[in-house]
Amino acid sequence: MKSQDVIVIGGGIVGLAVAEKLHSQGHRITLIEREKIAAKASQGNAAGLAFSDIMPLASPGIIKKAVKWFLDPVGPFSVVVQDLPQTMGWLLRFLAAARPAQYRRSIDVQAALMHLSQKTFPEMLERCKLGDMVRTNGALHLYQSKESFQADLKKWQFRKEHNIAFDVYEGEALHKFQPGLSPSFVAGIYANQWQSVSNPLDFCNALHQYLESAGVKTIIAEVSNLSDDGSVTLANGKVLQADKVVLAAGPWSSTLSAPLGDKVPLIGERGYNTTLDKMAFVGLDHTLVLSDHGFVVVPLTNGIRVGGASEIASLDRAPNYKRSKNMLAKAQHLLPALVNDGQGVEWMGARPAIPDTLPVISHATSSKKIIYAFGHGHLGLTQSTATAQLVSEMVADQPLSMNITPLRVDRF
Ligand SMILES: Cc1cc2nc3c(=O)[nH]c(=O)nc-3n(C[C@H](O)[C@H](O)[C@H](O)COP(=O)(O)OP(=O)(O)OC[C@H]3O[C@@H](n4cnc5c(N)ncnc54)[C@H](O)[C@@H]3O)c2cc1C
Repeated sequence: MKSQDVIVIGGGIVGLAVAEKLHSQGHRITLIEREKIAAKASQGNAAGLAFSDIMPLASPGIIKKAVKWFLDPVGPFSVVVQDLPQTMGWLLRFLAAARPAQYRRSIDVQAALMHLSQKTFPEMLERCKLGDMVRTNGALHLYQSKESFQADLKKWQFRKEHNIAFDVYEGEALHKFQPGLSPSFVAGIYANQWQSVSNPLDFCNALHQYLESAGVKTIIAEVSNLSDDGSVTLANGKVLQADKVVLAAGPWSSTLSAPLGDKVPLIGERGYNTTLDKMAFVGLDHTLVLSDHGFVVVPLTNGIRVGGASEIASLDRAPNYKRSKNMLAKAQHLLPALVNDGQGVEWMGARPAIPDTLPVISHATSSKKIIYAFGHGHLGLTQSTATAQLVSEMVADQPLSMNITPLRVDRF
C-alpha cells in the first residue's frame, strides 16, 4: 500500500481511532486538535461500547415519549426555546427521520456499523496494548412497568434478528441479579455483549500516548479552513499540505465542511452527568440503563457516573447543571443503594448529532482528498474503530467493508 501524508482534524475519540488505524497501515499522520486531547464529548461520556444499541433515536415511538418529556423543563429531553432559530431545521429533519421506513433503514445501517465495530475494536486494543482498559461487563436495561418492558422487548426481538444476545430478568430474579434497586423495578434486560472502557478520558489519553510514542505528530491549533486540494489553514495563518485530510471535529465539523459546499445538519446534542465517588454504589459492576428516564449509571475506575439526557441547544450556550442535579436526584430515588456525598463532579458534553442518527463517513462532494468522519451522536466511542476502518479503506482506495451509501454527505 502506498504510504501517504494524512492530516486528521480533531483529537476526540473518532480522530484518535482514525489516526491509529492509518498509522498502523504505514501512513504519515499529523493530528490537529484545537484545545487538548479529548477536550469535548470524548472526555466525559458514559464509557459504553454499546454494540447492542442499533435502534436509532429517531424512531416512531420517540415522538410520543418526547412530548411527555418536553413538559418537564429539566427532564430527559428538552429543547432550549431561545435557540430554535438555529435548531428548528434539525428538529424538523429529526421528525422526518422518525418515519417507519427511514427508521428501518437506519437500523440495518447501525447493525452493520456495530458488527464492524465489534470486529475492529479488539484489533485496535491489541495493536495499542490497551486491552486492560476495556471489560465486558454488560448493561442492564431496567423497567418499572410491565407495559414499558413489553414495549421494549419487541425492540429486543428485533435486535435478536441481528444476532444480539440478551437475558431477561423479572420480579425477584431481577433484584437477585442486581441488588440495590427500588422495588418499583419489575423487569430487566441484560445485554451481555456490552463493554465499557475504564474511563473515557484515560482511554483517549492512553491511545494518544501510544500514537505519540509511535511517531504520530500532534499540533495544538485551530483549523480555520480546508481546501479541496488537501491544504489546511490554521487560525495562525500557517498552511499545511497533505495527500488526504480527515475531518473529525465532532459537532464543529460542519463549519469546515460548509465552505466546501457540504452543508450538513449537525448540532451538538447536549448531555449531562455527575461523577460520584467510587464507593457511591458498592456492588455495581455493569451499566444500568434507566430506560424510562433517559439516563444511565456507570461504574468507572474513577467513580460512579450518573448521566445522559438530550438537550437541543446551540453549541455556545452555557450549561444548565440543573439537569445533572435532577438526574442525580432521580437516580437516588430509583437506586436506594446509591450514596451522594455532595462531592460529585458535574459535566456537560455535546454529541455530534445528525437527524437520522447515522454518522457522515464520506468523501467531500468536491474532492476525494477530503474525508468526513463525524456525527456519531450517542455512539462515537462505540463506532470509532468501524469509522477508522472505513476511512482507511477510503484513503487507500480499497473496497469498503460495508455499503456506505446511507452515510454519504450528499444524502441531505
Ligand atoms: C453524556 C454523554 C454520554 C455518552 N455516552 C456514550 C457511550 O456510552 N458510548 C458511546 O459510544 N458514545 C457515547 N457518547 C457519545 C460520544 O461521546 C461522542 O459520539 C464522541 O465522543 C464523539 O467523538 P468525536 O471525536 O467525533 O467528537 P469530539 O469528542 O467532539 O471531538 C472533536 C474534537 O475536535 C476538536 N475541534 C473542533 N473544531 C476544531 C478545529 N476547527 N480545529 C481543530 N480541532 C477542532 C475539538 O476540540 C474536539 O476535541 C456520549 C455522549 C455524551 C454527551
